[in-house]
Amino acid sequence: MSIPVTAYLLLGSNLGDRTALLRTARAHLAAVAGEIMAASALYETAAWGREDQPAFLNQALAVRTFLTAEELLGQCLATEQAAGRERLERWGSRTLDVDILLYGPALIDQPSLTVPHPRLAERRFALVPLAEIGPEVRHPRLGLSVTELLARCPDPLPVRPWLGN
Ligand code: ADP
Ligand code: MG
Repeated sequence: MSIPVTAYLLLGSNLGDRTALLRTARAHLAAVAGEIMAASALYETAAWGREDQPAFLNQALAVRTFLTAEELLGQCLATEQAAGRERLERWGSRTLDVDILLYGPALIDQPSLTVPHPRLAERRFALVPLAEIGPEVRHPRLGLSVTELLARCPDPLPVRPWLGN
C-alpha cells in the first residue's frame, strides 16, 4: 500500500482518568496507525444506550494511514487493550473505545468490520466531534456531509465541550 487513506476515528472513555487515557491513546495510535492530521476538542456526553453509567469523554481524530481497514481495526483494538479495556457487557463502561467512523470513501461489510460505522448517523457524540474536524466529509453510504447528518440527527443527548483538565 503506497497511497495513504484518511481515516476518521472516535475515541471514547468513561472509566478511570479519562483525559490521560485519551492522551495515551493518541500517542499509541500515532505510533501504530499513522500520523494524526487533526484532533477535535474533547466532548462530554451522558452514556448512550445504557444510561446507568458514568459520562463519556469523546474525541474524533483524522489519521493518515497506510494500513488496510482491517489492519487499522486491529491497531484500534490493540490500543484499547493497552488501555486495559475489559469487555464485560455491550455498551458497558470502558476505559477506552476506539471506533473507525470512516476509512476514506470505503464501504466495508464484514462480520468484524462495518465502515462507515453503522451507528454514526444516530450518535450525536460521534457527529459533533467529527463535524469539528471534517464538516464537509461525505458519508459514502448516505451521500450526506457530516454537517448535514448532524442537522438530521435525532439523538437527544447533549454533547458538551469538556472544560475540565
Ligand atoms: P461498540 O464500539 O459498538 O460499543 P465494541 O467496541 O465492543 O462495540 O466493538 C465490538 C466489535 O465491533 C469490535 O471487536 C469490531 O470487530 C466490531 N466493529 C465493527 N465495525 C467496527 C468499526 N467501524 N469500528 C470499530 N469496531 C468495529
Ligand atoms: Mg468500539
